[in-house]
Amino acid sequence: MTVAVLSTACSSTARTPAGTAESPVAASRTGRDILLLSETHRVTGVVPPNTTLSAMLRELGIESTLVERIINSARPVFDPRRLRSDQPFSLARTIAGALEAFEYEIDNRSFLRVWPDAGGATLRAEVLPIPRTLEYAVAKGAITPENPSLFGAMGAAGERPELAVAMAEILSGEVDFNTELQADDTFSVSFERFRREGRPDSYGVVASLELRNDGRVLRAFRFTPAGGKPGYYDEQGRSVRRFFLRSPLKFEPRITSGFSRNRMHPVLHTARAHRGVDYGAPAGAPVIAAAAGTVVSATFDNTNGRMVRLRHASGYESYYLHLSGFAGGVSAGARVEQGQTIGFVGSTGLATGPHLHYGLTRGGVFVNPLREQRNMAPGDPLPEAEMAAFREQRDKEVAALR
Ligand SMILES: [Zn+2]
Repeated sequence: MTVAVLSTACSSTARTPAGTAESPVAASRTGRDILLLSETHRVTGVVPPNTTLSAMLRELGIESTLVERIINSARPVFDPRRLRSDQPFSLARTIAGALEAFEYEIDNRSFLRVWPDAGGATLRAEVLPIPRTLEYAVAKGAITPENPSLFGAMGAAGERPELAVAMAEILSGEVDFNTELQADDTFSVSFERFRREGRPDSYGVVASLELRNDGRVLRAFRFTPAGGKPGYYDEQGRSVRRFFLRSPLKFEPRITSGFSRNRMHPVLHTARAHRGVDYGAPAGAPVIAAAAGTVVSATFDNTNGRMVRLRHASGYESYYLHLSGFAGGVSAGARVEQGQTIGFVGSTGLATGPHLHYGLTRGGVFVNPLREQRNMAPGDPLPEAEMAAFREQRDKEVAALR
């Protein structure tokens, strides 16, 4: 295991006399040539995958008794098993190796701090809030030959991939963001953003969005009905959630190649023995349940390869073929949620290369999944009693998106 270190810096040094070229910072701060600075060595990075707090600290060069003390002092306020990969940490020590502080960002609201109290005899640990402020922002962008994917277009609009993913998820019943975006499509999204130390940090919720795709205008507004959960609704107050997702492949900005040379473009199979839609996709790309349901089977045979078969309400069943593997927990009888990862793209069985064959039956008869999905009724409408409040919020958001 290696620790992913993003940066390492000695915040000050007294190894050379102040005033020499080697330590201009110290010289300008004091203007004297004798200094007794505390030497702090700081390492910052993110938690590597598949590690423990103990293993990570040892990897950073902390001797095992101190590792144990850090963990024991942290335990009352933070369960070390909750350490998550990719979360930032920082470790400050004196050049002699004594701990000055260990900090670990638990989530975007709080961090763990472990430090020695006066004299250094004992360690103290606390979970502290991360100071941040909330603001509302609007981002607008367009799909262009230079930025053919939502991911690229969002980046060009100055925002991060997470916002593209959030947007794609909201409209996942309407648009296959891996394949259906076109040049000149435009989007506008209104969202919450947290600021930390004056800089944009994580995103809050998406308040509303508009996508002009292939000549149609799609809008979604976040609204929380009285006593209910927040959801997204179109202008008429109908849920934008659909019974079936538009695509059985997760929106993956990293693997989308865009409209111009689209590797994931679906191809409809019409041969009787092989009816369904093929999606060219990289091996390992996540395959998701198109609708909530129950696993009928997760099997292997020489024709279909690894295949998941799901049963849904209203007499539908969906099939996902040629998988390289199944996701954990996907076995006969298991319940799956819409959008849950059930397996990974592969080329098992009769397949010339990695792709997903996706099939759908209604009442035991194969149907065209894309046409069937589009013809399904829109989502449930808000109750009439909620409509006045919804319209008021909607109109504010429509103005914000302009
Ligand atoms: Zn096929």
